[in-house]
Amino acid sequence: MLFYFVLGTIMGSFICCCAGRLVNGRSISGRSACDACWHKLAARDLVPVFSYLFLRGRCRYCGAAIGSTCLWAELTGGIAFALCGWQTAPGLEVVLLFMLTGILLLIALIDWQVQIIPDALIFVVAVGGLMYGGLYLPGGITDSLFGGLIAFGIMLAIFMISRGGMGGGDVKFSAAVGLWFGVDATLMFLLLAFITGGIYSAVLLVSGSKAGKEAIPFGPFLCAAAFVTVLYAPYLLSFYWNLF
Ligand SMILES: [Zn+2]
Repeated sequence: MLFYFVLGTIMGSFICCCAGRLVNGRSISGRSACDACWHKLAARDLVPVFSYLFLRGRCRYCGAAIGSTCLWAELTGGIAFALCGWQTAPGLEVVLLFMLTGILLLIALIDWQVQIIPDALIFVVAVGGLMYGGLYLPGGITDSLFGGLIAFGIMLAIFMISRGGMGGGDVKFSAAVGLWFGVDATLMFLLLAFITGGIYSAVLLVSGSKAGKEAIPFGPFLCAAAFVTVLYAPYLLSFYWNLF
């Protein structure tokens, strides 16, 4: 479990770095450098979680403050990987889940910062979903396809009703994620995303911090809901049905 956690923090660190470079339009390759002084970072500066804590969030070379985004991405990655490993026996399934987790984290970080979900990432989620659905869903690839279709239908309807309140990327991304779930779990996934996203915007409205006028990025909520659903759908569904 500790091994999975450490693996997850390394993934989170890498993903956060990728997200930062994609958002700023820089190339993915090349050594990491400080954003303020461009000093190349040494290996000891790149240890997930510990480097940040040890340096107290400042650059070793120029003292500029480093944003805590990557620290949170590393911790989230670590916890997410540990949960995947806990829920799934070692094998192809856990590898697919790790892949999904990484992409979800990347999409959440990018969408949070620039409100875009890149098509290339959606495509990877879709291909992974067909594989995962075909191998691990009780209804196989048919269930997988119906999950994608129903997510697409519901999100498209909301997209048209809300007239720009929701992005087209959210619609495509939900359809791709639905391929991982099948029909029942897809409904659970959308419900979770809307509940968490709704609570968040209600909190913003009440606190008045954004006046509720700016569109909030919905991608991070879709990503969080997708992660919870892919691991815990059976528990959530039986809990849900027991409510009635
Ligand atoms: Zn620096």
